[in-house]
Amino acid sequence: MIINYMEEIVKNCLNSILKNDPAYDDICRCEHCIEDIMAKALNNLKPYYITTKKGEIFAEYSSLVTQQQAEVIAEIIKSIEFISKNPGH
Ligand SMILES: [Zn+2]
Repeated sequence: MIINYMEEIVKNCLNSILKNDPAYDDICRCEHCIEDIMAKALNNLKPYYITTKKGEIFAEYSSLVTQQQAEVIAEIIKSIEFISKNPGH
């Protein structure tokens, strides 16, 4: 199975930003908006494809997260701000 590991990173970073940053308390968190935010951020980030077995732990890729975290977070913040001003519903 091939997955874009960047999706996992974006999903995790987005969750922790929404949970921990009071600046984004008011944005819509419906499935539609969350997916729009993820899609927009992922379009601006390089995909990182890995092969994996179902249920496998991704710990070995944590160095990738550290290397690219600043860039990932910056893209997610841009996407949150864009989608919260232009919600798709
Ligand atoms: Zn929404």
